[in-house]
This record gives sequence, C-alpha cells and structure tokens, in this order.
Amino acid sequence: MASVTVDNIVKTFGETVAVDHLTMDIQNKEFVVLLGPSGCGKTTILNMISGLDRLTSGRILFDGQAVEHLPADRRDISMVFQSIALYPHLTAYGNIAFPLKMAKVARGEIDKRVRDAATLLRIEELLDRKPHQLSGGQRQRVALGRAVVRDPSVFLFDEPLSALDANLRVDMRVEIKKLHERLAATFVYVTHDQVEALTMADRIAVIDEGRLHQYGTPDEIYQRPVNMTVAKFVGSPSMNFLHGEIRQEDGAWRFVSTAVSMPVSGSILDAIKSGGHTSVTLGIRPERVVVNGAAEQNTAIGWVYATEPVGSDLFLNISFDDPDTVDPNIFKIRTDPGLTIRAGDRVPVFLPPDSLYVFDSAGVRIHPGDGSA
Ligand code: ATP
Repeated sequence: MASVTVDNIVKTFGETVAVDHLTMDIQNKEFVVLLGPSGCGKTTILNMISGLDRLTSGRILFDGQAVEHLPADRRDISMVFQSIALYPHLTAYGNIAFPLKMAKVARGEIDKRVRDAATLLRIEELLDRKPHQLSGGQRQRVALGRAVVRDPSVFLFDEPLSALDANLRVDMRVEIKKLHERLAATFVYVTHDQVEALTMADRIAVIDEGRLHQYGTPDEIYQRPVNMTVAKFVGSPSMNFLHGEIRQEDGAWRFVSTAVSMPVSGSILDAIKSGGHTSVTLGIRPERVVVNGAAEQNTAIGWVYATEPVGSDLFLNISFDDPDTVDPNIFKIRTDPGLTIRAGDRVPVFLPPDSLYVFDSAGVRIHPGDGSA
C-alpha cells in the first residue's frame, strides 16, 4: 500500500489549463474523492497519478518515490472506469484472471486470487457467465474483481458508478466503501456526484477550473466551505444566497438586500467590520431555514413558487421577488412533510443568525454558519 503526493502539478492542453498548480497529499489507506463539475480537471489529475497522462510540470510521488517518469504499468495501480470494458468473449472468471495471466502468474495462484476476489465481491456464482449474461451492477463487480486481483498499492476510480441506474448506484456506493475497508488500500476516486463524495470519502478534494478549492473531511466541506464555489457545489439542494449591503440605519447595523432587511450583530458584524466589507453575501443551508416561525427579526416574507414533496421531506421553493416576476430567484427550504402549504401562499421565512454564513465580494467565507464562531 502507498501514500500519494501530488506536488504542484500543472497540465495544459494547448491554451487550456486543465490542472493549475495542484498540491495534495493522500495518505496510505485513505479514501480520497476528487469532486468537481464536468470539465474541472478531475480525470486529468487521475490520469497523471496513473501515468496515462504526462505532467506539464510538477511531481507525483508514491511513498515518497517520484513516479512521474514511470509508465502506467510500472506504477503498481489498478484503475476502474465508468465504461465497464470487459472482454465479451471471456467469462467473468477469464476477465478477472486476465491481468494475472498477462503477468504470467502461476495457474494455481491465479485460481486462488480470482476466487478470493469473487468471494469478496459476492460474485462466486457468476464466474462462468459471459458479460452479456450479467447485469450492469454484476459487470461492474467483475471489473472491480479484475482491479482487486492485482493487489495494487493504489486503486484509481474514474466515475465507476455513473453508468448504473440510481438504485444500483446506491448499492454499489456501499459496496465500494466496504471494499475499501476490507482491502485497507489507498483509494482515489473521481466523481461529480457530491452524494458519492460525502458518503464514501475520508477526505474530499473540491476541484474547480483545475484548482483545488478545499481539501477536508466530508463534515468540514459541508459545514465549513471555504468559499461560495464549495458551498454551492456540495449540498443538495444547494446553499441559498442573498446578496446585499451592510448599512448603518438609526445607529444600528443592518444587512439590506432586495429580499430582506435585518439587523446584524455579534460575531457576524465583527467579521464584516474587521474586513471593511460593505457588500456581502449571506448563505444558509435549506435545512436551516424556518418557515411559518414566530420570530420577527431576521424574518422575510416570501411566497411559495412551488412545493416538492419527496415523502421524507417537503422542499419549498420560495421567492422574495414580486409574484409577477416570470423567472424569480428561488430560495430552497427543506421542511416537514406534514406542513400544509401551497404554491402561491405567503409565508414568513426566518433565517436563524447562528446558521448564516457570510461571504465577501470575492466569494471567500468570512464567517462560519455552523455555530462555531
Ligand atoms: P468530466 O467530469 O466531464 O469527465 P473532468 O473534470 O474529468 O470532466 P477533464 O476531462 O480532466 O475534466 O478535462 C479538463 C479540461 O481539459 C477540460 O477543459 C477538457 O476539455 C480539457 N481536456 C481534457 N483532455 C484533453 C485533451 N486530450 N486535449 C485537449 N483538451 C483536453
């Protein structure tokens, strides 16, 4: 097993900077997820770790040893891709055994390793089947088996679940997490799905436009996003934002936006004043907003644009704009499914001060919203 050090790597394709001076360390046996929107550079980073892509500059080290000059087949890695490229003419057994045959491993040893991998992935009954006789999830397990038998130092996954249907993705998420526990290996996993990242990772690296925005535990990323890019990308529905000005009115400080005018005080005001900010963005998670509360301060009157009941929760789409606005700005609220509320209703929306994040005009968080200030 191995640690992976990514040291100031850059990758350009002509004018395109796909990866921009990225540095991160991945510890031995850690499960790290590279998370970001399509085109942010995740696959390129993975390909440089694997050796499929050359670096423009920077270094990659496995256990402190530089590997950037080594081809992929000399880096002791296994890769699992989104497209499950199994050999159609081989059985599941033949597919799993294939890399070992190529490496000229003895037949008895191959048999042992294939059967161990099949037990680990619970596909013992399927070993005689060809890929077309397997479901998508079963094919993905065979692909995992082929990665596992090589017993590599580092496993690299590139969106391995995105071709599967929603239910299967949920099952496979758990399977991959258990596989990591059982193998006690280093996993680097690329996805644009923040739920996969939050549920599986020890640490998440949030990437945007080739740059690392934040690297931390799922809890840190969700509760203390360093900027609006991370705050927007992680969490479903996304964090709500209100852009406004900080003003002094009648001797008291207020946050004033088109939607809401409310007093600001305590640590929020301290953070805003110490940075000399006049224009800020307040952020709040959908589950922290309170509708129909009795509080008067920090309360804005909105109207319900649409309701989205999902059984366990009720999502409200609230607008503070004029009801005749064709395409209003929407505030998402997660609330109790028992609430009797309809589209068009006017509702008081309370924003608890403890739950308010504050971002400066550059989008950098200057005040936490997790009550830790
Ligand atoms: P996705 O989730 O859609 O796969 P990604 O985050 O993995 O996206 P990359 O595939 O790493 O993103 O691409 C990063 C950037 O580099 C994109 O702008 C892409 O167009 C560009 N890029 C990637 N490979 C090449 C290439 N071979 N030639 C030119 N540009 C490339």
